[in-house]
Amino acid sequence: MCEIIAIANQKGGVGKTTTAVNLSSALALLGKNILIIDADPQANATISFGINKKSFEKDLYHSLIGIANIEEIIIDTNVENLQLIPSSISLVGFEKEFYDTVDDREFLLKNVLKSIKKKYDFIIIDTPPTLGPISLNSLVAADSIIIPIQCEYFALDGLSQLLNTVKIIRQKLNKKLKIKGFLPTMFSSTTNLSKQVYDEIANNFSSHLFEYKNEFMIIPRNVKLSEAPSFGEPICIYDNNSKGAKAYSQLASCIINN
Ligand code: ATP
Ligand code: MG
Repeated sequence: MCEIIAIANQKGGVGKTTTAVNLSSALALLGKNILIIDADPQANATISFGINKKSFEKDLYHSLIGIANIEEIIIDTNVENLQLIPSSISLVGFEKEFYDTVDDREFLLKNVLKSIKKKYDFIIIDTPPTLGPISLNSLVAADSIIIPIQCEYFALDGLSQLLNTVKIIRQKLNKKLKIKGFLPTMFSSTTNLSKQVYDEIANNFSSHLFEYKNEFMIIPRNVKLSEAPSFGEPICIYDNNSKGAKAYSQLASCIINN
C-alpha cells in the first residue's frame, strides 16, 4: 500500500526540500517505487533534480486547477524508480486566484492523487514555508508528516502552531494524519548550540524521533548536501559516500522498516 508523507514546517530554510529530495532518492535506491511532489512555487525540489522549467509545459498547478491530467505532468528523474511532479511559480496562482472559488478546496490534491496512488510505495510531498492552502492540501492528502527541525536558535519556534494545525486537520479534514517523526537537521557536532537544540528536542519529544540502530536520527550539517542541488543531483548521485547520503539512507531504512 502507498504511504503519502508530507515534509512540512512553516519555518523557512529548515531542510524540507533537502529532506524531500534525498529521502525520496534514498527510498528509490532501496528499490521502492517513489513519486516526489514539488508543492512549493519556489520549485526548489524540481531544480534539485536538474530539471529545467522549459522542459515541461504543465505542472502541479495545472493538475490542481483541473486543466491537466495527473498522468500528463509526471516526469522521470535522474534516479531510477523515482518520478516527480514538478512545480513552478504558477502555483502561486492556485492560492491567489483559484482557491477561493471552488468547493472542497482542501481536498484538491488528495483527489488528483487518487488515480495514481497504487503505482507507488511512497509519495513524498515537499511543502512551502507557510501554513497556507498548498500546505493544507498536502496535509489533507497525506497519511503522515515528517517535521524537519533545524538545530539552530529559534528551532522550536512555531512548532506548537504547526502541531496545533495538525490537530485541527485531524479533527476536521484528515482523521488518519500521523506524525511520522521530527527530524533534527543541519546538526553540527562542533557547536554547543546544535547540541543544546538537539537535547531540547530529545528531552521533550523523544517518542517522535526516528531511531536507527538504537540511536536517535539526526541529519548532520554536510556541505555536500548543500552543493548537490546546484549540480542537479540528489546526494546519492552527487556523493553517495558523504555523511549526508548515509544519513538519508538510514532515514529511508527506518521508514521502510517502520
Ligand atoms: P524553504 O522553507 O525555503 O522551502 P527548506 O525548508 O526547504 O527551505 P532547504 O532548502 O532544504 O530548506 O535548506 C535550506 C538551505 O540549507 C539550503 O541551502 C540547503 O542546501 C541547506 N541545507 C539543508 N540541509 C543541510 C544539511 N544537512 N547540511 C548542509 N546544508 C543543508
Ligand atoms: Mg523548500
